[in-house]
Amino acid sequence: MHQDKHLYLNGQWVNGEGLTRQIINPATEEILTTIKEASKEQAEDAVTYAAQAFQQTDWAVNKEKRIKVLKTAAGLLEESADEVARLETLNTGKPIREAILDIYDSAACLRYYADLMSQAEFWKKEMEDGTVSEVRKEPIGVCSLIVPWNFPLLLGMWKIAPALAAGNTVIYKPSEITPVTALKFTEILEKSGVPAGVFNLVLGEGDPIGQTLVSSEKVDKVSFTGGSETGRKINQECAGSFKRVSLELGGKSPLIVLEDADIKLAAEWAIFGSFFNQGEVCVASSRLLVHENIYEEFIAELLEKVKNLKIGDPLKEETDFGPVISEQHLRKIEDYIKIGKAEGAECLYGGERVGSKGLYITPVIFSNVNQNMRIVQEEIFGPVVTIQTFNTEQEAIELANGTRFGLAAGVLSADAEKADRIASQIKAGTIWINSYHTPYVEAPWGGYKQSGIGRELGPQGLDGFMETKHINKKEHLEPLNWYTFKN
Ligand code: NAD
Repeated sequence: MHQDKHLYLNGQWVNGEGLTRQIINPATEEILTTIKEASKEQAEDAVTYAAQAFQQTDWAVNKEKRIKVLKTAAGLLEESADEVARLETLNTGKPIREAILDIYDSAACLRYYADLMSQAEFWKKEMEDGTVSEVRKEPIGVCSLIVPWNFPLLLGMWKIAPALAAGNTVIYKPSEITPVTALKFTEILEKSGVPAGVFNLVLGEGDPIGQTLVSSEKVDKVSFTGGSETGRKINQECAGSFKRVSLELGGKSPLIVLEDADIKLAAEWAIFGSFFNQGEVCVASSRLLVHENIYEEFIAELLEKVKNLKIGDPLKEETDFGPVISEQHLRKIEDYIKIGKAEGAECLYGGERVGSKGLYITPVIFSNVNQNMRIVQEEIFGPVVTIQTFNTEQEAIELANGTRFGLAAGVLSADAEKADRIASQIKAGTIWINSYHTPYVEAPWGGYKQSGIGRELGPQGLDGFMETKHINKKEHLEPLNWYTFKN
């Protein structure tokens, strides 16, 4: 890696004064790099620098500068896409084909918000009383952006691009175990001309570094992606001072396969929905709901296909399925497999470790499950899928809505109208019909119920980083003519 200093504070690369952490390549379990993380004081300093930059630079008001920086960064990111994708794969274990998608999607996100900002128009209306009302949007101020390890650069970009486009200043904290592409992207932003203090990179773990970035009085907005329990704590902390907060949290998303769906294609989409990025995706279709009349045939197709997935070195183009992120996470997945078996579920396939090096496990398929089991209700965030059957449309909808989450869902059917009718009754923020997984930068992303608060992407994603101000004006001061006294 280019940087031997790992924090970017007030436009300077700085040595971390906190913990030293070895970053592991999950495909080999070898050390990829060693990071000197921030101390709590350095996290506090980062907030102070961001607050100063918000007050003392023209970033909040100079839209042209912001657009130029974001577009330059998009171009530089694309130019180094192969290198950044390789770093992402080395750090996360995600297959290189997937990492490449992440990098181009990240560049597209920067461009989208630069364009959206350049087109932004404010609402204006002449009122009946002769005044003119204008609605303006303004940046919120200092934003702490905190993300998890599964899509380190892309999920960061869903926050960084709109936050900066809107004119905020930022402290960015990736997951402590996946800091590598954040370092690279910070170099890119620096080269793109981001003013000192506008973007600050802070590395370190949730406690105390993330907590400091959430609780500081100088922070105006927290945008968090991660687990629901962490989200709950952050929400409680922000409630104390009514700090703006948006939360992208966990999921347990259903994929409904109707009786009329093409079974071979449905099995392929189910594998994609459930096991893309080793199932370490917030919207992973971890619950398959299959019409009882096609269940046997569907299972046979699913098993045949899953056995043929290419598991192995994520740097190879042909790899479909890489290692999971960490030893700790692998143990959590294995614990859930044990829990599922103890609950009486039948493990039809998977759960075996692969090879002697690397954090590989074969994808897991559970049948014979019921709605109350922990493996149906709790987010495992790995390659574990449960299959349930249904008979009526209403039953499918009840099963689909039967968890505390509401992030995403899918419906596979030859009857698009029927699928749409089902989609309209599912409580989830994103629903794919005869498709799965693709996020569109123009369309909002986020959760119902305990899957979050607020939306990222689309115009809504920009709105989340702005305050709304109504200005009502008249050119001259005129008599009010309301009171009985005379002027
Ligand atoms: P996590 O909640 O443990 O950590 C996420 C981030 O929060 C990390 O950077 C971590 O250091 C930080 N953090 C932890 N405790 C904190 C605290 N008290 N205050 C401030 N920051 C703190 O989650 P994870 O294990 O890294 O990621 C997995 C979770 O992320 C899953 O639940 C998954 O569903 C969710 N996720 C959601 C989306 C979405 O778009 N809704 C996308 C990806 C992942």
